[in-house]
Amino acid sequence: MQQLTPMMRQYHEVKQQHPDKLVFFRMGDFYEMFYDDAVLASRELEITLTSRNNDKKGKPIPMAGVPHHAKDNYLNKLVKKGFKVVLCEQVEDPKQAKGLVKREVTQVVTPGTAVEEGLLDSKENNYLASLYLEENGYGAAFLDVSTGEFWVSQFQGQDSIGEAMGEFMHFRPRELVMAEEQEERLMAALPSQTASHLVRTPRADWHFNLDYAQRQLLTHFKVSTLDGFGISGAELAVRAAGALIHYIRETRKSSLGHITGMRFFESARYLKLDESTVENLELVRGADGGRKWTLLSVIDRTQTGMGARLMRSWMLRPSLCLEEIDARLDAVQELRANVEALSGLSDVLKDVYDVERLLSRVTTETANPRDLLSLKASLAKLPLLSEKLQRFSASLLSPFQDHLEDVVDLLEKAVDDQASVSISDGKIIRKGFDEQLDELRRISSSGKGFIAELEAKERERTEISNLKVKYNKVFGYFIEVTKANLDNVPEHYIRKQTLVNCERFITPELKEYEEKVLGAEEKILALERELFLQVRSQVAQEARRIQSAARTIARVDVLAALADAANRYGYSRPRLDQSTLLEVQAGRHPVLELQGNEPFVPNDLRCDNEENQLLILTGPNMGGKSTYLRQNALIVILAQMGSFVPAESARVGLVDRIYTRVGASDNLARGRSTFMVEMIETANILNTASPRSLILLDEVGRGTATFDGLSIAWSVAEYLTTEGARRARTLFATHYHEVTKLEKLYPGVKNYCLTVKESGGDIIFFHRVMEGVANKSYGIEVARLAGLPQAVLERAREVLTKLERKDMDLSGRSRKHHAEEVIDTLQQTLF
Ligand code: ATP
Repeated sequence: MQQLTPMMRQYHEVKQQHPDKLVFFRMGDFYEMFYDDAVLASRELEITLTSRNNDKKGKPIPMAGVPHHAKDNYLNKLVKKGFKVVLCEQVEDPKQAKGLVKREVTQVVTPGTAVEEGLLDSKENNYLASLYLEENGYGAAFLDVSTGEFWVSQFQGQDSIGEAMGEFMHFRPRELVMAEEQEERLMAALPSQTASHLVRTPRADWHFNLDYAQRQLLTHFKVSTLDGFGISGAELAVRAAGALIHYIRETRKSSLGHITGMRFFESARYLKLDESTVENLELVRGADGGRKWTLLSVIDRTQTGMGARLMRSWMLRPSLCLEEIDARLDAVQELRANVEALSGLSDVLKDVYDVERLLSRVTTETANPRDLLSLKASLAKLPLLSEKLQRFSASLLSPFQDHLEDVVDLLEKAVDDQASVSISDGKIIRKGFDEQLDELRRISSSGKGFIAELEAKERERTEISNLKVKYNKVFGYFIEVTKANLDNVPEHYIRKQTLVNCERFITPELKEYEEKVLGAEEKILALERELFLQVRSQVAQEARRIQSAARTIARVDVLAALADAANRYGYSRPRLDQSTLLEVQAGRHPVLELQGNEPFVPNDLRCDNEENQLLILTGPNMGGKSTYLRQNALIVILAQMGSFVPAESARVGLVDRIYTRVGASDNLARGRSTFMVEMIETANILNTASPRSLILLDEVGRGTATFDGLSIAWSVAEYLTTEGARRARTLFATHYHEVTKLEKLYPGVKNYCLTVKESGGDIIFFHRVMEGVANKSYGIEVARLAGLPQAVLERAREVLTKLERKDMDLSGRSRKHHAEEVIDTLQQTLF
């Protein structure tokens, strides 16, 4: 059995503390990885796998390394792929070390705790989540370390799991902190798509202990009670939040001064959009997974990263509070009316960097000199922004109360405009900021002048015209004389080295200056670093003020963007109230209207809890049914987020939740067929919708046999309009024309259809929504447009004619149960 070397023992100690992370172990100019870490890194980073020494069993130890100067690049790649990485540095100079060089973990980077620029998407938050589960519900906490936003909540009662998972979808955390013991249950509860991209961080169960978690929060926020955060009594939330703060403090090992508070949120304050609705409506991600042609991409005309993130968050959590919505709309209206002022404001915002993220780097002690310059440049814009805002009267556009002049002034005086990125390269601190530094710089530069003077003087004195004063790391400064001139070398020169063509000397005078110059340079570097750290920590003290400015900038940015979008696309101000009416005049689909060459055909809508509660929409394939359903949902979302809407006018009685059952999606990974998914979603709607909800049902019952599907569509529609307590506003698109009979049976049902014209074998789509029922679906005509073979089309027409003439049923037998007859039978038996 072989002994491990002391260094490998040191490595194992570190690895033992961080078994779930890749350890970058600093060795000279490289970070090395060993064992499984090395194999994984070589695969993921495409770097060479080598080996070193042997392990205890005499087998070579796999090893892979990356050069230290390129570490950020490799580290970012790994973290982006969902791995956690630990940097273990040499913390003493190897030349001075007695025995083994001391090493320490200096940085832990995980996907959910990243603040590094290269790891973040400027337009999206990067949340770390924590969930705690008890019989009666869930506690949840979501923290974006890169901005300091910290949300906590708890969900109890019948639909607690649905609500907790809904929030998960909004925050889309990269990493989940949870109690070890609960890992399996939580992962099973998460939607598979969410679970698959989530980095898991199981922690010892006691981290979630109530007392312990509470103490973590009290210590971090330096308060004696949590009452001020509105979290008292919310024990599950406290457990989740405390365990999360514990984890982040352990990982980041810094003050985290930008995490200045946490906000307790109740989902009852927002319009709820579940995961499938966000996907179906393509709010932030298109069908192809990209951002193009989403609602967000159309209206996000923000100038800053902070604004873009806030816009996204308003869209995914539209408000349910009339005052809040109206305040936003007032601001948008005013901005929109002042085109010149609006563009002036946008021009200033263009020059503002991501203050939130810069601040997080300041408080996590990772900000470099350039970051501070960007922060200064951004904060320096506050007076100008205030000036631009002065002319508006909307409450959300009031000028900044605090221009942070002291912080700008400190940064202006301290940090040189040409400062480098690295803290250790010097040239960071501006002249005049620190007397001692200025003095050292004088010595250093006059010392350098002295060397030049000395060279000239010695040349003259010795008459050696090619005498040179040179410098290298081993000897410091020396005088070099070529062999031919050695006779002229004065007595007091001290020989240091003989080379082939020349000899090198020193003099006491030269050494004295060398000490001064080199000493000064070293001291300058150390002092500059120290001063920089001081300035950075002074700025960190002002985290709360800076953060408040950043949030106001973000809000102004979003409002300006909404005004800009309203102008650009001709949107109008919606009217919102507590009624349950949804009325749209000449509404458009905000994304589709920008695509394609055909002009978009606007359509009206009137939907309420009374006579127009269930609108059944029929029409040809490709007629525009789905578009109509979606555009009305998008109008509601825009209105409740505080945006103008693509319509001539819109009145929106607040909607508490939008449900969509649209299209087909498999969830085979969880053992559910397309039809099963459809039915689960439908069941969820029927069980949880409230009279304030808006329901979009697009072709319910398509995934099964015709009559099963028709029966389900019929009974679902009927349930939606008869279940007194639930009569939610519903748009129901279907190809089962039989369902339109419900209009005659129930007062709240209204039929609408999309119109087409047949002309010389062609069909013309008008995309116009009218009252009434479509006479047929034109499926075969659409199939022709799609390029189905002629033979198939001809046969389809033949079969259709026979079916319509009722002389054949779907199994080819003489048809007894034509759908019409089924409905008649239903009516006779049921009513
Ligand atoms: P299917 O029954 O086959 O699902 P559908 O009735 O749901 O069809 P949509 O998918 O809504 O039809 O629309 C089909 C296409 O028609 C859209 O992609 C769009 O190009 C066009 N369209 C729909 N509505 C309008 C409109 N109001 N103005 C202009 N074009 C429209």
